[in-house]
Amino acid sequence: LQDKLNKAIKTLKGQGRITEINVAATIKEVRRALTDADVNYKVAKDITDRIRDKALDRKVLISVEPGQLFVKIVQEELTELMGGEAQNINIKGDPAIILIAGLQGSGKTTFSGKLASYLKKQGRNVLLVAADIYRPAAIDQLKVLGEQVGVEVYAEPENKNAVQIAQNAIALARKTGKKIVIVDTAGRLAVDEAMMQEIEALKRAIAPSETLFVVDSMTGQDAVNTAKTFNERLNFDGVVLTKLDGDARGGAALSIKTVVNKPIKFISTGEKMEALDVFYPDRMASRILGMGDVISLVERAQQAFDEDEAKRINAKMRKNQFDFDDFLSQLQQIKKMGNVKDLLGMIPGMGKMIKDLDIDNDSFKPIEAIISSMTPKERSRPDIIDGSRKKRIATGSGTSITQVNNLLKQFDEMRKMMKKMNTMQSSGKLNKMMR
Ligand code: GDP
Ligand code: MG
Repeated sequence: LQDKLNKAIKTLKGQGRITEINVAATIKEVRRALTDADVNYKVAKDITDRIRDKALDRKVLISVEPGQLFVKIVQEELTELMGGEAQNINIKGDPAIILIAGLQGSGKTTFSGKLASYLKKQGRNVLLVAADIYRPAAIDQLKVLGEQVGVEVYAEPENKNAVQIAQNAIALARKTGKKIVIVDTAGRLAVDEAMMQEIEALKRAIAPSETLFVVDSMTGQDAVNTAKTFNERLNFDGVVLTKLDGDARGGAALSIKTVVNKPIKFISTGEKMEALDVFYPDRMASRILGMGDVISLVERAQQAFDEDEAKRINAKMRKNQFDFDDFLSQLQQIKKMGNVKDLLGMIPGMGKMIKDLDIDNDSFKPIEAIISSMTPKERSRPDIIDGSRKKRIATGSGTSITQVNNLLKQFDEMRKMMKKMNTMQSSGKLNKMMR
């Protein structure tokens, strides 16, 4: 999606003067990019119609920087489409109850663990409840996650009544001073009546202040349909999009809000407990537009990494002084956090560099080896790396000159992108665009 949108917009940007004809052509490209990304056709048509109207309205054709203005309009519309503002979950009651619903394999149990960890970090006293009564393994899975994040898990392996289990857990929470109860439920492989009745009954019995519907973003258009069905029965409060670290096309994020009119509240981007983000429509829109989501990256960095280090690196990015040492330090910290593709995608210019890679932590070995074979001076001033230095580095790192060249070239592009963002930021354009 990103690539296609970028291409469409690049066409526009490249043109010194934008004519009505190439606005129309770009709109068409944008629409095609959206439908290719599994965005519902009607949603895609609506949004592109609005983009066109706005573009004409704001006189894109005669503005000084038509491409910029156009990008801004697309960004605004995508943001709006995904719900505008970030939405909090409702935490009300003593204890507050959060019900987790969705199909089997969508990522409910994993998300329950992540949410518990997220809330615990905010200083809340949380209890996790295993109300998946069909798979004994589900209880163990939640227990392992609970242990990992330091949150107690309530389960009754012998009890086959999910409502009862949840009610007992709530009573226990009250007695032991737990303030939030997260109820992880069973799912089926496909929507069926029995499951719907079960989860409806559970919701009625425990009256959660927040019901979250968890959906696998890789399922594309199906995700939207499932959301619709669950919403009709459950009238949930928010959506959690999971597996956005994979090659999900993101179309679900773009259509769910419109189709069910419920906000996406979290995105899950990996199997590790830290891989959870609050969903910010504007950031997602920027990401889709290939701007690189520096804000999320820095925030996440602050959570899991050393805050000072994150600040230091961010300051260097802003001063266009980001060098190979910083790059290496980021790689090493990022590696601690599990699937790195998504995180790296947030660094401006990095998306392109990694998009074809099948990334796991081993994928970085050659990159790390190359950087390690550079002298300190080469790391801070890559421009001095000439032919003979390249050869030395390739030999030292057990890689080829081509690999060294590629890394240098990509690093250079990354720095250019950062510089461009900095220029935009200092001239206020980026801020305007991100607002
Ligand atoms: P449930 O059946 O809805 O409880 O789903 P699980 O939480 O058991 O998740 C199903 C599978 O998806 C497990 O292998 C998880 O590790 C994996 N999973 C869950 N969330 C994510 C995610 O955000 N990214 C990736 N890559 N895998 C995930
Ligand atoms: Mg489960």
